[in-house]
Amino acid sequence: MNIHEYQGKEILRRYGVHTPRGFACFSVDEAVQAAKDLGGAVWVVKAQIHAGGRGKGGGVKVVKSIDDVRKEATQILGMTLVTHQTGPEGRLVKRLLVEEGADIRKELYVGMVVDRVTQRVTLMASSEGGMDIEEVASHTPERIYKIAIDPRTGLTDADAEATARKIGVPEASVAEARTFMQGLYRAFTECDASLAEINPLILTGDGRVLALDAKLNFDSNALFRHPEIVAMRDLDEEDPAEIEASKFDLSYISLGGNIGCLVNGAGLAMATMDTIKLFGAEPANFLDVGGGATAQKVTEAFKLMLKNPAVKGILVNIFGGIMRCDTIAEGVIAAVREVNLKVPLVVRMKGTNEELGRELLAKSGLPIISADNMADAAQKIVAAIGASK
Ligand code: ADP
Ligand code: MG
Repeated sequence: MNIHEYQGKEILRRYGVHTPRGFACFSVDEAVQAAKDLGGAVWVVKAQIHAGGRGKGGGVKVVKSIDDVRKEATQILGMTLVTHQTGPEGRLVKRLLVEEGADIRKELYVGMVVDRVTQRVTLMASSEGGMDIEEVASHTPERIYKIAIDPRTGLTDADAEATARKIGVPEASVAEARTFMQGLYRAFTECDASLAEINPLILTGDGRVLALDAKLNFDSNALFRHPEIVAMRDLDEEDPAEIEASKFDLSYISLGGNIGCLVNGAGLAMATMDTIKLFGAEPANFLDVGGGATAQKVTEAFKLMLKNPAVKGILVNIFGGIMRCDTIAEGVIAAVREVNLKVPLVVRMKGTNEELGRELLAKSGLPIISADNMADAAQKIVAAIGASK
């Protein structure tokens, strides 16, 4: 799960990570009031969307008068902000962060991520902050310094200080940079984050260390123990189909192809998508109905897939274990009738009660194409959508 920059900063402050002062705003008047409340002479008006690259896209403006705060807030609120992370369609800006302008001496980068290879949290740091860290990673990877953090000790003083020195933090600010990184690590582990990115982390003219940007992602499997983070969820930033899916406890991810896939089990779903690709087509979605799929769940899954206008055919691939194939067949039949299915449908079922399931499908009188194995199923659906073009 993702949150906005201002929410990330709110969390980080609780762990002693310093940030500029700022307020989230939902209207131009609120933005003006926020700037007045902050005081000072320089403010930054920042679009809040769940995507980076806002600065380059025109979503971050440094201003020096209250009039300009009003001007930029009017400009940014309601704009469709296009960045390298939003795709060409961009994202509608509905929230702003108005914060005090920082006196930037140097922009650095600090990130943390769960590394599956070392099974530890990796700290990444670089002196090359503020710009596209992806560019630095691909062209000059030696400029990104990495260490794996031992969960038994946490981020040690020695490691934090060594990292600070590697990225060019001057001696007078090393202790503050250490506290910063240790606070970030505690926030990361205690909140069950999967990614934290501070780009840029800055050194100010008077030697302070601040997070000027904050991107935090959380492990959704751990959200049950963080209701305060769940409350930060912004549904406007999520795919409506994926929100709908989560209501029915379906794991659904929209993809770019035209074959809808309904599968039980994430592994089988991945294998099904691979098989579709092998036979020259592209899946329209990943959809795992899980182990306890009821007829109603299958119907909801069909409705969900068919909301995507790109879907030209559907492939159902079910392994019947505890979940019996006849139950799935009943669900498929009910769903096809309820949604009045117009696109070709291939069903492959294996396992418990498969004969019974196939019999039900055959007797239904519906134009369901039965398949025997995965390759057969994929070839049949690819052929069927080819014929329907
Ligand atoms: P994004 O990564 O989405 O482009 P950032 O929050 O990193 O957004 O902002 C982009 C740039 O804007 C930063 O690299 C920094 O130079 C400048 N900036 C952001 N916030 C402030 C601030 N509070 N004071 C001064 N400059 C800022
Ligand atoms: Mg940034």
